[in-house]
Formats: sequence, structure tokens, C-alpha cells
Amino acid sequence: MSAQHTTASSVSHQSVSHSGPLSIEEQTQLLNLQRAILKSIAQGAEHLEVIKQTCLLAESLLTNSFSSVMLMDDHYQQLNVYVAPSLTPEQIQKINGLRPSPGGGSCGNVIYQKTVQYVSNTFTDERWEDIRHLAHEFDVRACWSIPIFSAENKVIGTFALSSFEHREPSLFHRMLLEIGSSIIGIALNRNHYQESLRQFEKVFEGSEQGIMVTDTNLKILSVNPAFTKVLGYSIDDVKGKTPKMLSSGLHDQLFYRAMWESITHFGHWRGEVWNRRKNGEIFPEWLSISEVRNELGDITHYVGTFSDISDLKSAQKEIQYLSSHDALTGLPDISLFKDRLETAISIAAPSNRKIGLLALNLDNFKFLNDSLGYASGDKLLKLFAERLKGCLHETDAISRHGGDEFIILLNNIHDDDSINYMVDMLLTEVSSPFAFAGRNISTSCSIGVAVYPTDGHDFEKLFGRARKAMSQAKEEGRNTARFFTEKLNTDSLHYLNIAYGLREALAHHQFELHYQPQISLKDAQVIGAEALIRWHHPQNGMQPPAQFISIAEQTGLIVEMGEWIIEAACRQGMQWQKNGLPPLSIAVNVSAVQFRRGNLDKVIIKALEKTGLNPQLLELELTESILLEDIDHLLAQLDGLKKLGVKLAIDDFGTGYSSLAYLKKFNIDRLKIDQSFVRDINTDPNDAAIVRAIVQMAHTLNLEVIAEGVEDEAMLKHLRESGCDEVQGYLFSKPLPADAFEAFIKNSQL
Ligand code: C2E
Ligand code: MG
Ligand code: MG
Repeated sequence: MSAQHTTASSVSHQSVSHSGPLSIEEQTQLLNLQRAILKSIAQGAEHLEVIKQTCLLAESLLTNSFSSVMLMDDHYQQLNVYVAPSLTPEQIQKINGLRPSPGGGSCGNVIYQKTVQYVSNTFTDERWEDIRHLAHEFDVRACWSIPIFSAENKVIGTFALSSFEHREPSLFHRMLLEIGSSIIGIALNRNHYQESLRQFEKVFEGSEQGIMVTDTNLKILSVNPAFTKVLGYSIDDVKGKTPKMLSSGLHDQLFYRAMWESITHFGHWRGEVWNRRKNGEIFPEWLSISEVRNELGDITHYVGTFSDISDLKSAQKEIQYLSSHDALTGLPDISLFKDRLETAISIAAPSNRKIGLLALNLDNFKFLNDSLGYASGDKLLKLFAERLKGCLHETDAISRHGGDEFIILLNNIHDDDSINYMVDMLLTEVSSPFAFAGRNISTSCSIGVAVYPTDGHDFEKLFGRARKAMSQAKEEGRNTARFFTEKLNTDSLHYLNIAYGLREALAHHQFELHYQPQISLKDAQVIGAEALIRWHHPQNGMQPPAQFISIAEQTGLIVEMGEWIIEAACRQGMQWQKNGLPPLSIAVNVSAVQFRRGNLDKVIIKALEKTGLNPQLLELELTESILLEDIDHLLAQLDGLKKLGVKLAIDDFGTGYSSLAYLKKFNIDRLKIDQSFVRDINTDPNDAAIVRAIVQMAHTLNLEVIAEGVEDEAMLKHLRESGCDEVQGYLFSKPLPADAFEAFIKNSQL
């Protein structure tokens, strides 16, 4: 088998082989060769094309020869043919895998010795010792080979001219080889550079990380698609601007100064930065900034790569949350709770406020857990936790202390009753049954209370005492609460008993209204009655309102009681009319809490509609404390009631601070002078003067005046002289049950 003896003809001339300086013709040939190749490079020819062209031109300048470019493989172990335009694939196959060695032929030796090799007789030269068979097979007699260098000046391959004649290279041939190898080197390096550029582009475009390139003035030159995806800005939005436009405003100047100091000193910076997206949202990113320098060592660019770490952050937050919260109930763990208590104490101490620490334990949880199974028990605990949490204010805190025990912090406590109120609410909430797993589960809890500062100044002391009190509550029959301090305990017991009793009273109709007549001083006729509530306590007998109204107000039960009172009073008024009494005005006492928490206007409309009482006959007795309410809301409610025709009176007038003129704004019809002025009217000239002044002023404002607590004739005389319109008091009658009141009227009419 022999090599194809072909030559290219684009540079058509016979090679001249002689030594000595180049002839004009030879110089022209070399120049033509360079021009031809440069032209195709300039026209953007593919590097392989350029190398092939170089080979063919070289072959055309040496008759009876073929050219080849061999490159070292990636492991730098062996040479393989890269381009050999005049060899067949089978021939190329045979040459491939050539190893650099002293006997490895011209090309093998170029790599081995890193210098040009001119072998003029391959049949005898020892440099061909290992591959002599190839010389014979290809009929190659001379072979000149020259190194191809990389941009880093490393020998990466060979450019060879093999001849079918034994021959020595002339200067022209040597130059031909040199020019060829350097052009091939350039073409390869250029391709390598373009290849890495293409690779960089691929990385830049496809990177998951956002990339931004700026010049040395920090003007943005380019950004990649990930940048646009994360920040929302396209290249057109940011080109020519500085990264300052992304700033979230969360970092101060010191932060950026430290960043640039690091870049100046070490050439890079890495860290977490909060930036702002195009839609205004701020987010955390992990950013790395590096400077880029040219061969001269001058900085030419800055490259910033970043990734959005918001997800990571929220995961971190979640981990932090989970590690500081009870997995079952989601409540803060004990150490977080302790922190809250310490903070609360540091705030409460200077302002003389109190803090309540409650230890709460479910009474029958073990039984429920055993009978429902553990999974359901867990669900139940979760529901309990939610219920308890629902009772608390934002400033309070709750934590689970293992099993079915909870600790609660009550903050901003002004008086002991505020704690009682919360304790009562927790007991009631926990004991109200709830639907669970297809049945109605009812349970209860025992609560122990310790109070800061009375019972201790730190968590250990307070918690220890709260638990002790809780054990007592358990011993005393469960479903109750105990304070660590005895005095508070008694107060609390009273409060809890009344609160509990009032709920029972509502459910079991233990309330009754008594009526006290109101008499006109003009004609000594009974013109109306004040309804006053009484509680028939199953054990303690008849209870006056002083015993329970304030607790009913604190617990909010007064709202429900009030609804009953108003309707019962209206119904009674109608009943008397049916029984033949003249139409009497019915006065009902209304608490400020009813205005605040209830929808009083609706309640009254409903009562009037249900009973059919003439609204003109209903009078609401309000106290001055009502003025502490939200005035606009109050005015609107009172206005609505006035429009219905309902009358308004101010009870216990003179005990508050309000001026008459101010009260008039509320469209009041009547004043009730407080008992305290009436009581001493006989003996204290001051009180007599005050009563006279009140009556006069009220009359100029077109208000009627009624005096309450009239117990004897002397009082009555004073009041009559002062110009009072009506009176009410034991002198005429104590508050009476409805039928006794009816009898009283009938008797007085006789
Ligand atoms: P109040 O509205 O000022 O009622 C007058 C109180 O004076 C009544 O006491 C009445 O029994 C008492 N009283 C009447 N005449 C005399 C007298 O000549 N001498 C003396 N010493 N006392 C007399 P009661 O019934 O114990 O009510 C006390 C307070 O409880 C009431 O004061 C009122 O503020 C409140 N109250 C009573 N019933 C209700 C009610 O249905 N709803 C609300 N929100 N409060 C009520
Ligand atoms: Mg009253
Ligand atoms: Mg009164």
C-alpha cells in the first residue's frame, strides 16, 4: 500500500530545493501562501479548513510529498492525526497512536525532544527505529517535522512534510514548515479560545446563578437570564447603571465600605446581601464579587454572581421556629417562655404592675388519653392549646410543660380582679364541651396562680409556687383555681363562686326583678317604677345586686343578664296595664358594659316588639361612667334609642365628674340625684345647697329631677322646697316583688 502522491494546485509551482538564501521566487511563494491563508482566516473560515488549506499549500510547494498535522491526546501520551488531506482514513488509522520516544519517528521525536526533526532517510535513521515498518509501508523516505505550540508555549503537536524521496530540507522548506506550524498553532489556539468563549457563554446563559459584569466604574455591562429571573430586570433596564439601583436600603455605608475593602485587598468578597427586585420586594442573596484582571495585571471588570437564598432563609427560620416550639401544639418552648417572663418583669417592675403566672393542668386527660387512644389524645391536646391561646391577649404568653400541663403568663395586670377574670374565663372555656371524634367531650382543668411581685421575682420561684397552688386546686376537687397567696385566694374564690353561680342563675332562672315606686311631688301619684334585680341563690338566699353586679360586669355576663332584665321589665309593665293599673313608666338600670359589648339598641327594640310596651314608658338609667366610652359610638346608640321614644336618665347624679351641660349633649330627660346628697340633706347645709343648685340648673336645661333614697318626711320637705319633681325611697316603699307592687298601687289608689 502506498500513499497517494497528490498535491494541491492553488499555489502552483515546483518547489526548489537548494540551500542558501531564499530566491525572490521562493519569497513570493511563501508570501502568497501566507496571504492565501490569512485571507481565509479573515473571511471567518473554520479552523479545520484553515489547517487543511495550509497542509495542501505546503504539499503543493514540495513535489512527491504529503503533509500531516498530529496532535497530542488529552493525556499527553500519544500523537493522533488531526489533519492529513492526502491520506486515506485507513492510512491515518495506521499512524494514529504514535508514542513520543527516541525511536518514534520524526513526529515522535519532535514531542520527545521538543525541537524540529529533519529526517532525510527514514530507512536508516535511528529516530525511525520503532516505526520503520511504516516508512516501508507508506514508502516514506524523508520526513521533516516541526513542533506546534500552544498559546502557553507548550508543544501540543507536530506539522510534518513526508516525502517519497530521500531529501534534505532547504531553507525554503524549513521556512515553509515554520510558517505552516505557526499558522496552524494560531488556528488551533484561536479555535481553543473561541471554544472556551462558547463554553463561557453557555455557562453564562445557562447558569442557575445570577451573573452581572460591570466595568471598573461599576457600570453594568451584561447580565445573564438568571439575573433577570431573580431580580426582574432585563439587560436593557440595567445596562449602564450601577448595582446601587438594586440596593434594598437595609445595609449602611459601613457594610459596603467593608465589602470594597475586601475586594481591593483580596480581589474578591463573599457574603449575604439584601437587594430589591424590580417589583419592590426585598430578598436575601448570597453574593460573590470578584475582580477580573488582564495580562498586564490591570483590573478590567468586576463579576458578581449570586443566588436567591430566600427559600433557604425561610427554611432556616422554620428550623429555628421548630427548635424553639413544641412540635405538637406549636406553642413556644419553656426557654422562650422564660425569656418572655423576664422581659415582662423588666417592664412591670418600674411601673408597679403585676404579672400572673398560671400553672394549668387538665383534670381528666389521662383518662381521655387511655380511652381515646394516644393519637386522639394528641389531637385533643392541640385543640386545648388552641382554646387556651384564644383566651389570651397578645402580650400574654403560653407554653406546654410536658404532657397536659401548661404555663401561662398574664401580662399588664392592673388589679387582682383582672387575674380572676382571666382565670374564670380559662376555667369556663376549658370546661365547655366540644365535639371531638364523633362525640362530645367535656373536661376541666385545675389552675394554680402565683403573682409577681408578691410571690416571687423569677421564673423558678413563681412557677414553683404556681404549681403548688395547682396541686391544692386538684386536692380541692378540681375544675377550680387556687392562688398561692391566701388573701388572693379568698378573693378569687369569692369571684369564681359568683361568676360560676351567675351562669347557673341565668340557666336556672334564679333572677327576679323587684320594683320601687316613683312618686310625683306635684300630685303625690305613683308615676313609675324602677326595676331592681334580685338573685335567689339556692344556698345563700336572696342576694342584693351589690353582691354580684360588678362581677357580672367584669365577666361580661351582664350583657346576657341585661337582655333578660329589659325584656322582663317591659313584660311586667304591660302585664300591670292588663291588670288594670294606669300606664306606668318603667326604669331599667343599664351598665356601661352593655353599651360596650352588647348591641343594646337591638336588644331594646326586640324587647319592645316582643312585649308591645309603649317606648315612651321605658326609661334607661345610665351612670356617668358611661361617658368613658367611645363618645361617637355612644351618641349614635343613644340617638337611635331616643328616636324610638325611649327616655334616658342619669342615675346617681353628682357622684361623677361630668357637667350638666355636657350631659345635655346626650339628650337626657331626667336626673336622679344620688342618695348620698339626700341622706344628709337634713343635717348638712352644703348638701341641701347642692341639691337646690342641681335642681335649678337641671330645670333651666329642661331636665326633670328625681331624688332617690328618701327615707323620712324631713327629707321629703327639703326636696319639695328645692323644687324636685319626683321622689323614690323607703318612705313610700321598698322595692317590691311584682305582685306586691301591684297591690301597693291598688291600695294607694283607694
Ligand atoms: P340604684 O340604681 O341607684 O338603685 C337604688 C338603690 O337604692 C337600690 O338598691 C334600692 O333598693 C336602694 N334604695 C331605694 N330607696 C332607698 C332608701 O330609701 N334608702 C336606702 N338606703 N336605699 C334605698 P339595690 O336594689 O340594692 O341596687 C343597688 C344598685 O345595683 C342599683 O343602684 C343599681 O346601680 C344596681 N342595680 C340594681 N338592679 C340592677 C339591674 O337590673 N341592672 C343593673 N345594671 N344594675 C342594677
Ligand atoms: Mg337606678
Ligand atoms: Mg341610684
